[in-house]
Amino acid sequence: MSKPSRPSAFETVNRLFDKAADLLELSEEKRVELTTPYRELMVRLPLLSEDGKLHVFRGYRVQHDNSRGPMKGGIRYHPDADLDEVRALAALMTWKTAVVGLPYGGAKGGIQCDPRQLSTLDLERLTRRFAQRMEGFIGPREDIPGPDMGTNARIMAWMMDEYSKFHGYSPGVVTGKPLELGGSQGRESATGRGLFFAVERIAPELGLALDGARVAVQGFGNVGYWAARFLADAGCRIVAVSDIDGTIRCPDGLDIGALREAAQRAGSVTAYEGPGCERLDREELISSDCDILVPAALGGAIHAGNAADIKAKLIAEGANHPTTPEADEILLEREVTVLPDIYANAGGVTVSYFEWVQNLQQMRWSAERVDDELHQVMQTAFDAIKKARGEFDTDWRAAAFVVAVRRVAEAARLRGLH
Ligand code: GLU
Repeated sequence: MSKPSRPSAFETVNRLFDKAADLLELSEEKRVELTTPYRELMVRLPLLSEDGKLHVFRGYRVQHDNSRGPMKGGIRYHPDADLDEVRALAALMTWKTAVVGLPYGGAKGGIQCDPRQLSTLDLERLTRRFAQRMEGFIGPREDIPGPDMGTNARIMAWMMDEYSKFHGYSPGVVTGKPLELGGSQGRESATGRGLFFAVERIAPELGLALDGARVAVQGFGNVGYWAARFLADAGCRIVAVSDIDGTIRCPDGLDIGALREAAQRAGSVTAYEGPGCERLDREELISSDCDILVPAALGGAIHAGNAADIKAKLIAEGANHPTTPEADEILLEREVTVLPDIYANAGGVTVSYFEWVQNLQQMRWSAERVDDELHQVMQTAFDAIKKARGEFDTDWRAAAFVVAVRRVAEAARLRGLH
């Protein structure tokens, strides 16, 4: 079945909010207050590229809510990063930072572009121009960008450098920086590690043994790679991985190191060779025979057209909003457990928070300390979600939203109209 056309991503996130707001019996006025973005910035970004052509890109920064602290969220460089998508991702950051108890609000930014089509010099100039446009709106106590799809430590370094030209040396304005510029140990692997901690915690509740569990991973970027690696280290068998070019399926299990090497060498996971492995279309990943499915690519990957084909018992959402609400209903009915994005992929922003804390205190933490503190955050959040799930007799996603919405609503109430 083909993928149905997608409604507004922001409205879709607000439907998830509404379910929690219903359970919490929030007033209409409160719902409007908590869903309306605090501030939105859209900028024109002209670039006279190295090939002599003039390109005009659009950049966005949506600051969704700051009731619980300065706003936090990544910067995405992707052709689909339009205002609606960035708004949806900003709202998810508000709920994500709240559910894991970080002292932050939510924001997200992006440039609607294909970074793979840009030379390194063009990427740097575009990034610096974007940072110039945002400079008056962001700051270590206001809004702290970080990495997301299509951006990396090098891009974060340019942003920090550009902001520092206006405000003095300010490592705390951006996270996901290189270690040499105040980046944190463990930031790169953080989302995958956090997802692993979440899976490790829920598995016993489902009677699922990780040793020998079969895992399929959609997307082999930063999140997919590290999630696969930590799950494999815990004894899971990674039976299928996909990227934009296709799926590689190996029922006996893939070697993650060799897979990464093949992906880096040939540009795609489909270059991997191994006994009993076959190449399939990228859509086939979702219906793989497996126990755990990790969507770690774009939003909307699990939809009404493919949710019924899923064979996994557990879906751990490495991506942001990979499951549409229609698919959620189908999965609920089929008793497939979904560990929701706002919890399952919160490891990234959590270690970004640790990075910011280290920057503000001019301290360095060891890799062991980062991992221990991340483990603690993921455990505490799981306990809160599990409690809300019992209290409201609901699913894991709604329970996570209940925890988050309750915290933000309470902070907003206590601060008054600000
Ligand atoms: N991009 C990450 C996310 O979607 C986090 C960005 C950050 O570290 O601020 O959660």
